[in-house]
Amino acid sequence: KFHPFIPSATPPSWLGVMGGGQLGRMFVHAAQMMGFKVAVLEPARDCPAGHASDHLICADYSDEKALAELAAQCVAVTTEFENVPAQSLAFLADRTFVAPSSACVSIAQDRIAEKRFFIECAAKSGVLPAPHHIVASDADIDAIPDALLPSILKTVRLGYDGKGQARVTTREEVRAAFGKMNGVLCILEKMLPLAYEVSVLAARGADGNSVVYPIAENVHRDGILFTTTVPGPNVTAECAGKAQAAALAIIEQLGYVGVLCIEFFVLQDGSLVVNEMAPRPHNSGHYTIDACVTSQFAQQARAMARLPLGEVRQHSPAVMLNILGDVWFDGDSDEPREPAWDKVLALPGANLHLYGKDDPRRGRKMGHVTFVAPTLEQAQASLQAACAILG
Ligand code: ADP
Ligand code: MG
Repeated sequence: KFHPFIPSATPPSWLGVMGGGQLGRMFVHAAQMMGFKVAVLEPARDCPAGHASDHLICADYSDEKALAELAAQCVAVTTEFENVPAQSLAFLADRTFVAPSSACVSIAQDRIAEKRFFIECAAKSGVLPAPHHIVASDADIDAIPDALLPSILKTVRLGYDGKGQARVTTREEVRAAFGKMNGVLCILEKMLPLAYEVSVLAARGADGNSVVYPIAENVHRDGILFTTTVPGPNVTAECAGKAQAAALAIIEQLGYVGVLCIEFFVLQDGSLVVNEMAPRPHNSGHYTIDACVTSQFAQQARAMARLPLGEVRQHSPAVMLNILGDVWFDGDSDEPREPAWDKVLALPGANLHLYGKDDPRRGRKMGHVTFVAPTLEQAQASLQAACAILG
């Protein structure tokens, strides 16, 4: 096993990433800019990260021969998606340095373990998760306290972008929703009166040093992140301070190495509730590529290589707009058209990021655009113009 203070890995050594999606692709780009070589392990040959990588190992995430090859090639391995089998990370960790650890990723993969962990460190973090109740059987539904309704039923594992969730107002609706989820283990969360949503990116090095990025305000549409604004127009200094302190306490308590994103709810009474965490760079942190000294992806490369963490300072106000496959379609038409990227790129402060996916589908994340400007108002004006262009 590895001591946490093993020497740094410097370019041009190899870094590895589990998963070939857009987060992997942006990691590849950032690591390559520093001079690292990057290997990607992913089952699909045609994948966003694979096209950018120096080496693609095309195999199942639990293929031990492929994992051994990745570990032999790379001085450190990370993951770009949280549902990587924790066992695969443990297998890799017997052979190379893995960040974040399989233990940390396991907690983030399981909403019950995650909430238990948040409660355990509430004394240090100062934040609690939403009131909740585990639903594993029909008997559990009978035992739901009335005060928990209305609520949201969420699958304990594998949920993302609002998938695996149902909004329910009565016990009967819980029963029906639980049935529709085929009885998989669920958690029922009290529906909270949200004022707005924020997320905080933190990073911790193998030496135990931690950094925290500026707080981001997020707007979702149909369960998918729509925009991220930094600084958030609703965020108060007090709220930002609390969320950043909570993120630092949580990353420290986890003994985490790498980039971690924590989502919070801000309630109408101003109080802060911790929602969930992603053990990797996050969609709401894409603004860091264009607006911060060190992007979340460059930070991940530094952390896993045991190099000094980079400065998190934001040098420009920023607004990030997610680009979904929907913008390739005019109204209800099934015929894809090319969006007017020339017009988007003509807007002040535009930084276009497309992920190299050939097949635009409604609801599929195809790219994002970040507008940076001397003032937030200017960045927001470009965002409004982009929304009008993309329809
Ligand atoms: P996902 O893994 O899909 O991101 P989340 O738990 O973050 O799942 O839920 C998705 C969205 O649903 C949140 O961003 C928030 O808008 C809403 N939501 C989730 N839980 C609650 C809650 N307890 N009260 C109110 N809204 C919620
Ligand atoms: Mg979420």
